[in-house]
Amino acid sequence: MQITITRTQSPKAKPDQNNLGFGNYFTDHMFLMNYDEGKGWHSPRIVPYGPLSLDPSAMCLHYGQEVFEGLKAYRAADGSVSLFRPDKNMARLNLSNDRLCIPPINEEFAVEAIKELIRVDEDWIPTADGTSLYIRPFIFAADPFIGVRPGKNLIFCVILSPVGAYYPEGLNPVKIYVESNYVRAVKGGMGFTKAGGNYAASLKAQGDAYKLGFSQVLWLDGVERKYIEEVGTMNVFFVIDGVIVTPELTGSILGGVTRTSCIDILKNWGMSVQERPISIQEVADAYDAGKLDEVFGTGTAAVISPVGLLRWENKDMNINGGEIGKISQKLYDTLTGIQWGKIEDTFGWTVKV
Ligand SMILES: *Cc1c(COP(=O)(O)O)cnc(C)c1O
Repeated sequence: MQITITRTQSPKAKPDQNNLGFGNYFTDHMFLMNYDEGKGWHSPRIVPYGPLSLDPSAMCLHYGQEVFEGLKAYRAADGSVSLFRPDKNMARLNLSNDRLCIPPINEEFAVEAIKELIRVDEDWIPTADGTSLYIRPFIFAADPFIGVRPGKNLIFCVILSPVGAYYPEGLNPVKIYVESNYVRAVKGGMGFTKAGGNYAASLKAQGDAYKLGFSQVLWLDGVERKYIEEVGTMNVFFVIDGVIVTPELTGSILGGVTRTSCIDILKNWGMSVQERPISIQEVADAYDAGKLDEVFGTGTAAVISPVGLLRWENKDMNINGGEIGKISQKLYDTLTGIQWGKIEDTFGWTVKV
């Protein structure tokens, strides 16, 4: 398939690179492609960024048939631009598609489309320290129809946003509230997919935690409220007595690209990593025994986010004196070093645009 390109006649002013925040600004172009039953995916095109016209009965607005991805493009000191494991994101997009009855996309083609869009908006990739270009591919059902069935007319869109740190705290430890009332996902549901609906279900708990001064919630399993799942937009790792533990992927947890990459790096360093069920009680016990060395979240947006405080019911666990731990810091330096081309990518993870 040939991607047609229509360039904007009115490029926007670029935002201040030192004040980007996250998800506030969008580039001059976007990628679009349509799916129509009987025709398959067709008409891939890059067009000026702007509002989409949808029928008010568009199915996604009523039944939430929508999936998305999130990855970043990084500019290296030599001016070159790379993506980090984009094949993993496109494979996961198809995993989400399958669960939400969305027709699969061609993964290689989607990576090529993303690269082409980045080339068109290349001058939007920020260069300031710690900044990157966030890439948001998403697919939704646009059929004008009121009734519950999978969409037959879908739209695949990719937009780009120059970003700085995800949390205003940057690499400083965040406060996390352990949620014992609401749940995010259950086995058999769609917790393992990146779907907008999962986030809609999380907003209430997130809002309550925010009011209490916490950045995000730590979700527990939906059946017993006992086992740890993940943090709002991140997978979670614990360092207990020198051993690294992260919840195994059970179907209700999102399999993060950053999570897998961290596991690979840690194993490469010869450290012991366990993917297994871990209860919040085990974490509290480790804390009481003085063995909870570090807690950190992993995700594309924040990369590594150290946790400085974990509140579970009436118990406040202050981790590593509220400072970033050694392993968190080393992982952050290694991952971002590979992503920004500052250290050699011995894993072969980066892909030049
Ligand atoms: C995207 C996401 C993550 C992190 O995944 P990465 O591929 O590392 O960015 C973790 N949990 C949830 C719920 C997510 O949506």
